[in-house]
Amino acid sequence: MSESERWRVAPGSTVDLTTIDPGSTDGAPGEGDKDATKATFKDLRHELRDLQARLWAEREQALLVVLQAMDAGGKDGTVKHVFRGANPMGIRVTSFKKPSEDELDHDFLWRVHKVTPAKGEIGVFNRSHYEDVLVVRVHELVPEQTWRPRYETIRAFEDGLTRAGTRVVKLYLHISKDEQKERFDARRDTPEKRWKWNDQDLVERKRWDDYRSAYEEAIAETSTDAAPWYVVPADHKWYRNWAVSRILIETLHDMDPQFPTETR
Ligand code: AMP
Ligand code: MG
Repeated sequence: MSESERWRVAPGSTVDLTTIDPGSTDGAPGEGDKDATKATFKDLRHELRDLQARLWAEREQALLVVLQAMDAGGKDGTVKHVFRGANPMGIRVTSFKKPSEDELDHDFLWRVHKVTPAKGEIGVFNRSHYEDVLVVRVHELVPEQTWRPRYETIRAFEDGLTRAGTRVVKLYLHISKDEQKERFDARRDTPEKRWKWNDQDLVERKRWDDYRSAYEEAIAETSTDAAPWYVVPADHKWYRNWAVSRILIETLHDMDPQFPTETR
């Protein structure tokens, strides 16, 4: 069993997030020891950097990493820590916000497809097209007849990306409601974190269960062999960083990018 199997959602399975412990440290080095895991994470970061250098030099394949989570779930922190040391030229991070008028005048994938990674690049989506079956569903921004068929549209879209040489890896950073509360409190009470605070977050928090079931269905409907979902326990940031880098490294090893032997 590859290590990342542990977090992968098998295609066709149902997802019940209440049965997955957000505080899990399963499989981490030193039997879930924080310091041992942090030390290993440093090595993994170097390995990721080396694999990225190959991917960039090869320019034949791309990797798309989709990050989704509840508010304060650790999407920004994952980008910051996991890709530290990577060559910024080959990394393309996109944060998806509320769609603009212009974006809303197009189909929901329009703004997404434009920013998928080119050959050689690692594209990181901080939020993604999945918001169009999550927040959009929870707040009934469009009727069910509109959002439900999007699962199929998304599967086809990601399948198309895969056929064109882009590997798609989707990560749900799984935090507990208690951990979210602690992170919200920290945002409010720490001057360096206050800029992240948004009063709307409390409104969303009241819809926790609605978001959870929307996530469960979206993940179950769209975890495919070509574009799998991974549910990463994320209450412990050190575990999350380690697990995410393990998943990305295994994926990149499987892609097996090579330095070109010919000169340009
Ligand atoms: P943040 O990630 O904290 O910067 O917040 C971005 C906000 O944009 C979140 O509240 C998302 O729910 C919202 N958002 C992102 N994509 C969409 C979308 N397709 N439709 C509606 N809201 C969205
Ligand atoms: Mg926010």
